[in-house]
Amino acid sequence: MLKTLTSRLFGGSCFLCRGGTQHILCDRCNADLPRLPPQLCPRCALASPEGATCGRCLARAPQFDATVAALGYAFPADALVHALKFRGDLALAPFLGALLLERLPALREVDCVIPVPLSRRGLRERGYNQAVEIARPLAAALRAPLELALCERVRDTAAQSELPWSERERNVRGAFAVKGPLGGAKVAVVDDVMTTGATLDEIAATLKRAGAERVVNWVLARTAPPD
Ligand SMILES: [Zn+2]
Ligand SMILES: [Zn+2]
Repeated sequence: MLKTLTSRLFGGSCFLCRGGTQHILCDRCNADLPRLPPQLCPRCALASPEGATCGRCLARAPQFDATVAALGYAFPADALVHALKFRGDLALAPFLGALLLERLPALREVDCVIPVPLSRRGLRERGYNQAVEIARPLAAALRAPLELALCERVRDTAAQSELPWSERERNVRGAFAVKGPLGGAKVAVVDDVMTTGATLDEIAATLKRAGAERVVNWVLARTAPPD
């Protein structure tokens, strides 16, 4: 079904190079994806020798408990994220979701999957939320409920990508609200790109205040903030 949809939307050609393929990407472009190495900090998914918790997380523990990321935010991953996020190429979402699914650890059971919410205005302007589109196939594959209304963005914030690193934390403070108690739940929060982690940290703090026991981030692409 997915194959049919894909070839109908992309005319049987690779999304990136337009070479012939029955998949979203041809084998060559697929091999070019900047998949992250296995040695990552389990908490924040930045490179870390032997996969130990990194110095940054030791110095200041984030509110989330773990992060799984599939790709580095470099070409051509950035082009795919951009197409999904700004050009409405929603047919990319199942493919990107599958890349992330491959990376999830054996212990992946969660009580619910929460995509990072957009504000009402953001959703109205874009018409869809790319995090929801990535989360949808993940939740389906794991048979976990996809919660679209449990966590809300209650304050419109400036786009994190338009702010200097140092201002991102303050920008998202108090931006989210959780409806209803989460008594002891294990929650996965899904987003397209993680950079400073400020948004995910704020969401994790909000979910934990509502009673979540464990919050893990599942992000498609990880980019490293400067030291
Ligand atoms: Zn290609
Ligand atoms: Zn870390």
